[in-house]
Amino acid sequence: MKKIETDVLIIGAGPVGLFSVFELGQLGMKSCVIDTLDIVGGQCSSLYPEKPIYDIPAFPEISAEKLIQNLTLQIKPFKPDLILGEMVEKIKYDDDCYETTTSKNSVIKSKCIVIAAGNGAFGPNKPPICNIEEYEEKSIFYHIKDKNKFKNKKIAIAGGGDSAVDWAIELSDKAEKIYFIHRREKLRAAPSSVQKLYKIAKNNNLEIIVPYQIDSITGNNGKLDSLIVKDLDGAKKDLNVDYFLPFFGLSSNLGPIKDWELQIEKNLLEVDQSTCQTSKNGIFAIGDICTYPGKLKLILTGFSEAAIAAHSCYKRIFPDKVLHFEYSTTSGVKSL
Ligand SMILES: Cc1cc2nc3c(=O)[nH]c(=O)nc-3n(C[C@H](O)[C@H](O)[C@H](O)COP(=O)(O)OP(=O)(O)OC[C@H]3O[C@@H](n4cnc5c(N)ncnc54)[C@H](O)[C@@H]3O)c2cc1C
Repeated sequence: MKKIETDVLIIGAGPVGLFSVFELGQLGMKSCVIDTLDIVGGQCSSLYPEKPIYDIPAFPEISAEKLIQNLTLQIKPFKPDLILGEMVEKIKYDDDCYETTTSKNSVIKSKCIVIAAGNGAFGPNKPPICNIEEYEEKSIFYHIKDKNKFKNKKIAIAGGGDSAVDWAIELSDKAEKIYFIHRREKLRAAPSSVQKLYKIAKNNNLEIIVPYQIDSITGNNGKLDSLIVKDLDGAKKDLNVDYFLPFFGLSSNLGPIKDWELQIEKNLLEVDQSTCQTSKNGIFAIGDICTYPGKLKLILTGFSEAAIAAHSCYKRIFPDKVLHFEYSTTSGVKSL
């Protein structure tokens, strides 16, 4: 739970939200960036980190992961407040200032808001286990930050896609035992990875349990004792595990933004293209989440919208100051 006062709150740490920090910073404005995910980079980091992108100006080819690394480096001088793993839920307008509250009760006061929320908040698809929240971030994880946590431990990994298979392979030489569970016999992951998984299962500590579904868990105070899985006839197996890693993909949801009384067209926020302002004063939308006639959902379009929104924020935050336009070649990179 954090309390932050800043000039501009940026909702979404995708490529466009990150570049917004740069554009605001160059005009002397401080920003705070929030994302529901615990990594920055939005779609680039979550959906296609290794894919090459060919239409970023001046980069004939750059991987999505490298693009995000470069953006992170580019915004460093502006020292934005970064809040990860929290979803922006409520906003209230008071005293010429927006007060925004997150899912973990952090409160951010800002003079403007820039919504760079892409297709909405990303979150993991969770297995249908009723008391799962008690175990999340303790013994059930949807992302892996530190592989060493699983050294000599008993782990269940569920899912049929690349993430599940790749992590099972990656952790097989660390863990004491891995149970790999999928509800179908056939896995969707890359055929070469599936082959590798079955090869490891032949000689090693990895057991493939298919077709089985997740049934329930037992444990105490967030510490797992066992994961119970069942086959298509309902016959159950009790797996004694320390950790459970479900990889069922991500889904996105416009969620709370829908309740902010902004003009919405087909799940997108309508903006005035010349300012990127939504139907509410001081709230701007850029990147994939915004729409106007002729809008293109491309990273480069989002970058340009970040620059337009930053100039609009400046006019609102400093109504009495005249902005002397400067190229970065003249101003250099400003730092805050
Ligand atoms: C497979 C694939 C390939 C692509 N290839 C290209 C390409 O070659 N060139 C190109 O230009 N584009 C490409 N794109 C599209 C490009 O990735 C998007 O245009 C870009 O990611 C949009 O950036 P963004 O910052 O607007 O949103 P996103 O990247 O979607 O990031 C939005 C972030 O906002 C967060 N968020 C949303 N709501 C909330 C909330 N309430 N609270 C907190 N956080 C929230 C989300 O969790 C997310 O992390 C591709 C997309 C895909 C899926």
